[in-house]
Amino acid sequence: MKAIILLGAPGAGKGTAAEDLKQQVGIAHISTGDMLREAIRAGTPVGREAKAYMEKGELVPDDVILRIVRDRLQAGNPDSYYMFDGFPRNVHQAELLDDLMAKLGGEITHVFMLEVAREVVIRRISNRRVCRQCGAVYNLNGMRPKVDGVCDVCGGEVYQRADDNETTVANRLDVFQRETAPLMAYYEGKGKLMRIDALDRKETEEQILRHLDIDSQ
Ligand code: AMP
Repeated sequence: MKAIILLGAPGAGKGTAAEDLKQQVGIAHISTGDMLREAIRAGTPVGREAKAYMEKGELVPDDVILRIVRDRLQAGNPDSYYMFDGFPRNVHQAELLDDLMAKLGGEITHVFMLEVAREVVIRRISNRRVCRQCGAVYNLNGMRPKVDGVCDVCGGEVYQRADDNETTVANRLDVFQRETAPLMAYYEGKGKLMRIDALDRKETEEQILRHLDIDSQ
């Protein structure tokens, strides 16, 4: 098992990059945010535990996150190639992931830090819309679905996430700076960190593929 990690502030474009990479590389996308939103919708115990944290833009406790990631990896094929999006979110989760990888005989090959200015991120989030069914990401400013409210990929409902509002976003950005940004030093120390200028969608994809040594066309 091999895995790459997409790091970045909310709105940096992790979900969009993940969609693009899925098209180019046979890679399984694991978004803990998508899994938690699905758990809330399904009304599972994990969903009930996560909801209040997510509404405030706080991190869901590490043990809950580890459980869903471990279940997902154990249910998958041991030869799979995974892409984590939104996980790990703090140094403790990164350590738990290292332990889990060691147990499953896996390896994290690259960690991509998607870098975008704070004003850009705030603008992107207020215009962001996502598919309730498949998680595809849209933006009212330039990346609208072809039919309003309907996902181009799967026909699901395109909606605005409850936590994509101004108050919650400010807290999510603070949580990112405090909890997640220290992961850069963590992975830099292991020689795995690649910084990506993530302003442009196509260039983001190309930079990542170049590091993975794969041509985009
Ligand atoms: P995302 O879709 O990645 O922006 O995540 C949305 C929300 O889900 C976050 O603001 C957190 O409340 C929660 N969440 C997602 N992934 C994690 C994680 N790895 N650790 C803790 N909380 C998470």
